[in-house]
Amino acid sequence: MGRTGLFGGTFNPVHNGHIHLAKEAFLSLGLERLILIPSNIPPHKNAEELCSNEDRLAMCRLAAEEHGFEVSDYEMRRGGKSYSFYTVGYFSKLYPDDELFLLVGSDMFLSFDKWFRFEDILKKVTLSVISRQDDDTELLKKKAGELQIYGSTEVVDVPAYPVSSTQIRNMIKTNENFSCYLPEKVVQYIRLKNLYK
Ligand code: ATP
Repeated sequence: MGRTGLFGGTFNPVHNGHIHLAKEAFLSLGLERLILIPSNIPPHKNAEELCSNEDRLAMCRLAAEEHGFEVSDYEMRRGGKSYSFYTVGYFSKLYPDDELFLLVGSDMFLSFDKWFRFEDILKKVTLSVISRQDDDTELLKKKAGELQIYGSTEVVDVPAYPVSSTQIRNMIKTNENFSCYLPEKVVQYIRLKNLYK
């Protein structure tokens, strides 16, 4: 039986905050496999500035290969809105003997009880959160307590790495230097394809 981390997101683009979450969760939770799952249409976000599935998938692959993480195009193949309920169902059938961990940042964790069929998701995974800002740990612990009646949760208590894709897209638009927030190969890809201008 293995320990597999599922890490979904828009990844528009994938950045060092995502990689920080993945690396810390991988170590703290003792994972054997971590899978980045870029969404098709994100249910919780405005998709206006979304770049193509092909580009987001390619950037995830570039970021993941450096750390030995996997990337799945399941949500993109499935099409429509990417509800984690279906994604978790798919991976629990694919890896029936594995213990599954669903990895999220604090914003998603705090709104998790609004997600489509969140109670059913929590029957299949341990919901594991990493803070996005250093002062929200108490809030996360309180929410973890509330969610515990539905299933298990885990607060991975490490310092935050506060950066967002929105911030990076804005920096690109205004010609600021954004390269320190992304893996080098992703920076090169964005420049080559002239994304987010
Ligand atoms: P946007 O700014 O476009 O809304 P984002 O930076 O929040 O994007 P997403 O791809 O939507 O990135 O996030 C995917 C997952 O990664 C979510 O669970 C989110 O909470 C988490 N995450 C994003 N950035 C960080 C960060 N800096 N630290 C920890 N978790 C993060």
